[in-house]
Amino acid sequence: MQEFTYQNGMLHCEDVSLAAIAEKVGTPFFAYSHSALTDRIRAYKTAFAEVPHLIAFAVKANANIAVLKTFANEGGGADIVSGGELHRALAAGIDPKKLVFAGVGKTKQEMSAALHADILMFNIESSQELTALDEVAKTQGVKAPVALRVNPDVNPNTHPYISTGLKNSKFGIEISKAVSEYQLAARLSNIEVVGIHSHIGSQLTEVKPFVDALALILELIEALRAQNMDIRHWDIGGGLGITYEAENPPLVKDMADAILPLLKKSACHIILEPGRSLSGNAGVLVTRVIYTKEGEAKNFVVVDAGMNDLVRPSFYQAYHAIRPVSENHRVQQVVDVVGPICESGDFLAQERSLPQMASGELLAVMSAGAYAFTMSSNYNARPRPAEVLVHGDAFDIIRKRETMDDLLRGEEIPDILRKFEKV
Ligand SMILES: *Cc1c(COP(=O)(O)O)cnc(C)c1O
Repeated sequence: MQEFTYQNGMLHCEDVSLAAIAEKVGTPFFAYSHSALTDRIRAYKTAFAEVPHLIAFAVKANANIAVLKTFANEGGGADIVSGGELHRALAAGIDPKKLVFAGVGKTKQEMSAALHADILMFNIESSQELTALDEVAKTQGVKAPVALRVNPDVNPNTHPYISTGLKNSKFGIEISKAVSEYQLAARLSNIEVVGIHSHIGSQLTEVKPFVDALALILELIEALRAQNMDIRHWDIGGGLGITYEAENPPLVKDMADAILPLLKKSACHIILEPGRSLSGNAGVLVTRVIYTKEGEAKNFVVVDAGMNDLVRPSFYQAYHAIRPVSENHRVQQVVDVVGPICESGDFLAQERSLPQMASGELLAVMSAGAYAFTMSSNYNARPRPAEVLVHGDAFDIIRKRETMDDLLRGEEIPDILRKFEKV
């Protein structure tokens, strides 16, 4: 990413030194590059310019309202998967007519909120969910715009936890049952069929699974139209991978060129739901070395960010590049970079070659703009990090570091426990 470079020996995000941000906001913190976010969505807009389209950023990748607003300023919408994400998207000022709502377990409350907001479409994943939505729409006296999420049973060749389009997946409706599910949808009086949806997985590094899946969906669109179903919106999902280490995912343009013939043939309005490929490489997590520890079998660099801040290494065995914020040419050492959490699984990198680091120095964990802060927690009673948005030579805090009081928010010691106090 050209937005993260060494200038005068210090790692910068755009033209701001990460060390300067650390000085101001403390560590750990996430920094996102405004120009990287903007460039990425513009690459999508250019690549898909030949078809009418909407880029609905997958909010679960990075839900900060300033990030959502950055995409909204470029005409982007959002792919939401909960009432909470709906709330965030609306708070960011995204046009409700640019929101699509996915997820296998939408509750009636969540459906009701989304109907009130008047979103573009619900991506429905089962017949029970379809009837539930019909009931909710009936009580509001409206018709719910619906696409069915179809599972094309194509293997995306990615990590099993982020593969979502196979037969055994909890997501979507099997393609063999799709026509009958659409017929059910067409019979329900408060459902309006408007589209079709698929999303086969994440961190995809080949074009072929997209093409295979979308070719199957196009056949289905034609079959549905033959039954007078008005498929106007074709939501092709997200899933394009990024480079964390040495992966070589297709460029947005290459993916677009491979699928545009199918998309054009459909004459649909196309919806894209990229998450990782828009924000992943636009962010870093900056952490400070607390101690270094040399063992007989291993060397450790203990830092102030842990699996509660960035869980991907622990959860998916994911690789994140790590760079010293202050460029140095010291001897390389093979180390585990670990957090302060009381779990052996708490690491940011294992068996990694890094220049020798000293207590107090800063490290940048790269590619931390997606599935990073959004998956963070307060485990071990750790306040979650600050987030900042860098813009040229300036930055803004877009989420304050949590305080100790934030950790206790909503908790209470009931009176009955006061009564049991030993005096
Ligand atoms: C997670 C998800 C996305 C985004 O996936 P990326 O790999 O981050 O692009 C898009 N659509 C749906 C339905 C998802 O669940």
